[in-house]
Amino acid sequence: MHEITEAALARAQEAGASYADIRVIRRQHEGIQVKNGKVESLAGEEEYGFGVRVIADGAWGFASSFQADREEAERVAEIAVRIARASARWKQEDVALAPEPAATGVFESPLEKDPFEVPLEEKISLLLDADRILRQRPEVKVAEAEMNFFRDHILFASSEGACIEQIKIESGAGVSATAVEGEEVQRRSYPCSFGGDYATAGYEFVENWDLPANAEWVAKEAVELLHAPQCPPDTLDLILEGSILALQVHESCGHPIELDRVFGTEASYAGTSFLTTDKLGSFQYGSEQVNIVADATIPHGLGSFFYDDEGVVAQRVQIVSEGLFTGYLSSRETAARLGLERSGGAMRADGWNRLPIIRMTNINLEPGDWTLDDIIGETKRGMLMQDIVSWSIDDKRLNFQFGCEVAREITDGSLGKIYKNPTYTGITYEFWGGCDAIASEDEWRLWGIPNCGKGEPGQAAHVGHGVSAARFRNVRVGLMEEQA
Ligand SMILES: [Zn+2]
Repeated sequence: MHEITEAALARAQEAGASYADIRVIRRQHEGIQVKNGKVESLAGEEEYGFGVRVIADGAWGFASSFQADREEAERVAEIAVRIARASARWKQEDVALAPEPAATGVFESPLEKDPFEVPLEEKISLLLDADRILRQRPEVKVAEAEMNFFRDHILFASSEGACIEQIKIESGAGVSATAVEGEEVQRRSYPCSFGGDYATAGYEFVENWDLPANAEWVAKEAVELLHAPQCPPDTLDLILEGSILALQVHESCGHPIELDRVFGTEASYAGTSFLTTDKLGSFQYGSEQVNIVADATIPHGLGSFFYDDEGVVAQRVQIVSEGLFTGYLSSRETAARLGLERSGGAMRADGWNRLPIIRMTNINLEPGDWTLDDIIGETKRGMLMQDIVSWSIDDKRLNFQFGCEVAREITDGSLGKIYKNPTYTGITYEFWGGCDAIASEDEWRLWGIPNCGKGEPGQAAHVGHGVSAARFRNVRVGLMEEQA
């Protein structure tokens, strides 16, 4: 690996690059999906390659290859410099990078059980156990259970002298039951919808969720929803549980604080942002209860790492401080443009053949001092919602609508009947402005989302969100509004 990095960096500089970096990546993925008693898909993939990024004549160039040898590294480095020179003709100004000390070392994420060493039969049998329990109720027509494991071995080196080797293993799993009766279709998931929960951890993470032991209530609730009333339109106090609140943080905070979106250089997937730079340090994003950090240092977070993909050390950046908007996710280039002393370390690429772009790390809502029971107990008229079904949010990340799997009525501090097809809508800063109770550290946990989409060509990022349940005052619920 080191022979390739040295060759590429030397040739890029000979060809005139004022800066160069290279990432050599080996990525393994194993995915197992079980559906209605059968193994639906079994994926075992491995890819290996490298990407060279340079600055020449004040502009960026990038090239990559899956043929990882010395000659190819030199050829690719030259192409990257030629691309930079060609791009320089249309540059508005020279690229400037915020300074970063050149780091060296080997870093490995902690785990107990390497998932790639666990026998395939053992993993399949766990999924089939859960699947069998899900299908014990005849109304459950589709039972699904899945696991995914990733292993990334990344070597980063730069012309500034950085040489960083990182090995990271990620694991995730989940189940869902879809119950059908006539035209009615209802679904419940565990531990959360869309393939389950993920972490930078080993197979122990999957075992801890105990999918078979939870399959029974998942199936039972899916069937109960078939006969539940529709969520009625209303305006009331809304309590969101962690699995849905994680996505609320993702869409209404995580994406709008990406500094490349703010500067308009990345506008895919409902890009741009209402959090323009004039608002930094002065805009009231939420209530005084709301503290949000971007923390890449937290153990086991899916968005945790030691160094980002331009060699910047993992950091904890305050994004919202007692409601006030105070920080962005940044890169070395955007940090320099904003006048920050240092990048916040949020540049990551989805594989060897993609340029790093600004991605979320772990965007966490800091815990409050309530218990969920006390929040419910002190809610006169409200609803508790769980697990995401659908989401939409406008270009600037202001107006949103989320659909959930289930809502539970709250009257005078007690949970009542369940409703199906619940939705809630809001405007980002009004919604967070109405946040008046957040559950404590005891009920706080990190959720991992392995499929955040951004960029052209598209890149999927693995990101995390630490949250506990929280209450939001006067939220409109139950209105299914079609949005474009
Ligand atoms: Zn996303």
